[in-house]
Amino acid sequence: MIHHVSDDPINEEMNLSIRTTEFKIFINGLLDAGYQFIKPSQLEDSFDRKACMITFDDIFKDAMTNAITYLESINIPYMCFVSPVFIGKEGYIDERELKNLRDSSLCTIGGHGISHKLFRFLTSQEKIEELCRERHEQLLGCEIEDFAFPYGSIYACDSKSIKMAQREYKRVYSTLNCKVTSRDKIWFLPRINLNSKTVY
Ligand SMILES: [Zn+2]
Repeated sequence: MIHHVSDDPINEEMNLSIRTTEFKIFINGLLDAGYQFIKPSQLEDSFDRKACMITFDDIFKDAMTNAITYLESINIPYMCFVSPVFIGKEGYIDERELKNLRDSSLCTIGGHGISHKLFRFLTSQEKIEELCRERHEQLLGCEIEDFAFPYGSIYACDSKSIKMAQREYKRVYSTLNCKVTSRDKIWFLPRINLNSKTVY
């Protein structure tokens, strides 16, 4: 799970930032170690194998410029979890960049909440609206099969929200910080937070 990628450290106190050089070293390290980079559709066949899926949350402009263009240049697939509310806001990708992601055969776009709210305290109706797959598809302009909860912790996601997401999407992702094994169900998948501290 990646948020910011920049040589000017951003959001370091939240541990949501990795330097561009560190990101490239990390990717090449995985390649050298023989990891296969997979798309979400390959996930279930890749449990307990030497496989890795790169996911970006929120899609900050720096991640687009410094990491996603790099993955494109070396032909590595990746996943982007997008909240429609952020598109075009300062520091985030705009409509044109979203279209580039849609057009890329390497990119899979997933939902991340219509307006990136913390689910636990939402009413049932608000949960339905925030999760809505059809609305995500309308606003993001493509078919969506994957959903990552904003904030993504056990605290942020009550079991009712998780069950609702499971009904709406093929695969649901958390921010539980560990690797995926065959013991995991595909409806609250863990993701390792990659930042300048964890990269080493
Ligand atoms: Zn987010």
